[in-house]
Amino acid sequence: MSRQPRKNFCILTFDVEEWYHGAYPGYDYSMVADAPVRVVEMVERIVSLLREFGAGATFFVLGEVAEKYPQVVRTIAGAGFEVASHSYTHTLIPPQGREGFAGQLVRSKRLLEDLSGQDVVGFRAPNFSISPQKTPWAFEVLESEGFLYDSSVFPAVAYYGGNPGAPRFIHKIGNLVEFPPSAMSIFGVKVAFSGGFYFRALPLWIIEAGIKSYHRRGETPVLYLHPKDIDPHTPPLPLGWIANFVHRGRAKSGLAKFVRLLKKYRFISIREFLDISR
Ligand SMILES: [Zn+2]
Repeated sequence: MSRQPRKNFCILTFDVEEWYHGAYPGYDYSMVADAPVRVVEMVERIVSLLREFGAGATFFVLGEVAEKYPQVVRTIAGAGFEVASHSYTHTLIPPQGREGFAGQLVRSKRLLEDLSGQDVVGFRAPNFSISPQKTPWAFEVLESEGFLYDSSVFPAVAYYGGNPGAPRFIHKIGNLVEFPPSAMSIFGVKVAFSGGFYFRALPLWIIEAGIKSYHRRGETPVLYLHPKDIDPHTPPLPLGWIANFVHRGRAKSGLAKFVRLLKKYRFISIREFLDISR
């Protein structure tokens, strides 16, 4: 399973959420819930960019976003991309407990399946907030609800949900296939170069060095982007400048790097990876 099915393939994933769906100390996204809508326009732009370059991708859609803007799911599925679940609300999983998590999961799966016409078999936790150590029950729930894979165990340092000791490569947790966001050590610190703040902040040559280090080992890297990672028009959050830099800094650079990578590498969805790995 961990072997790369084709040379130089990369898995591309997006978390489909609004620009204000983040978790920062002292911040709750209800503080900016009446804020400008960016997700509808950004998903249209992302889908047309991927089509232009013939790239595949998995979109982990937040249930709240699908409920409010069903056209977002129809745009993704109508263009032939994979729809997966990013839970229903963008809240940390551990405090929800097993029952709360299962409720949100099933609700999001049903809604996304109705809107997309696809079987929804993949999950990514908001803020990468599950791990086999902290929430073993979350993986049991995913399996029992018919999910085939998860992409939530973040093998690097993060505000929330970081597991620097977790495996960096695609592996199994029970019967689920786990697709960790790709990470590497930079000066002894585990960094998830393949998405989010790291993708915006790091120079392209470091990101490419990370991608190539996976390919050299016969592994497939997993990129994890959010619309705001490539949206130079993301508004600020009501937080200090450091949190805002982490939240939206260098998005113009993020977009430019993303287009460079689209030109150079073959991107596929997680579903395509599973199909060709059989
Ligand atoms: Zn998210």
